[in-house]
Amino acid sequence: MRKALVIGLSFLSILSYAQDKNKEMSPKDTEIWDPIPPVVTTHKNNAAPSDAIVLFDGSDLNQWINAKNSNPAKWQINKDGSMTVVGKNKGGGSIKTKDNYGSIQLHLEWRSPELDKSRKGQQRGNSGVFIQGRYEVQVLDNNNNPTYSNGQVSSIYKQTIPLAKASVPTGQWNTYDIIYHAPEFNKDKSLKSAATITVLHNGILTIDHFELLGPTKYIGIPEYSAHGDAPIMLQDHGSPVSYRNIWLRKL
Ligand code: MG
Repeated sequence: MRKALVIGLSFLSILSYAQDKNKEMSPKDTEIWDPIPPVVTTHKNNAAPSDAIVLFDGSDLNQWINAKNSNPAKWQINKDGSMTVVGKNKGGGSIKTKDNYGSIQLHLEWRSPELDKSRKGQQRGNSGVFIQGRYEVQVLDNNNNPTYSNGQVSSIYKQTIPLAKASVPTGQWNTYDIIYHAPEFNKDKSLKSAATITVLHNGILTIDHFELLGPTKYIGIPEYSAHGDAPIMLQDHGSPVSYRNIWLRKL
């Protein structure tokens, strides 16, 4: 009882000190004028802002290579400014950026192929955005196409369920805006801080600052292993998914 009284009185005295202090202050005392945030020029239709690194603007695949053998990327470039998965059996395969990245804000747009009812679940319009080549934000045609919840479109594949299903109708363009903070590792290669990821799917929050459990695993439990900056990978899962307008800002 006495302890509670002492704590209560201490709290009240701190509160009254803060109130007294506030009385002595002017609005200017809490204004910060330096540094000034840099100006970033934005453009219509989610076009790359002035400080972005453009990874794909529809003209070429110069920023991309085959994820397995580092040969030139062989995805199909379309007249509408998009590129489409070609399929491993036709020399496609997953592609990755030539450059390595750490923490980023990433914008991209993707489109499922026309509805193919013979494909169900994970086979329908499957692709994926692998941040640092390891951590997959799922791309899937989930419209009237049930699958496990942590494998849904906009899930962190097999790690967390999206907060909403926000896809546009099959065959139309979706946007992903991803805010990703890379994991940090100690000198002994143990994990210092997990990677975090936030995803907006067509402007809807689907992943809210999720702490990644480790690299995406199809079978088994994810487990971190130390790494540095790494490429972004787009998955060839055998579905002709298309991408366009890909850019990032380093954080
Ligand atoms: Mg996938």
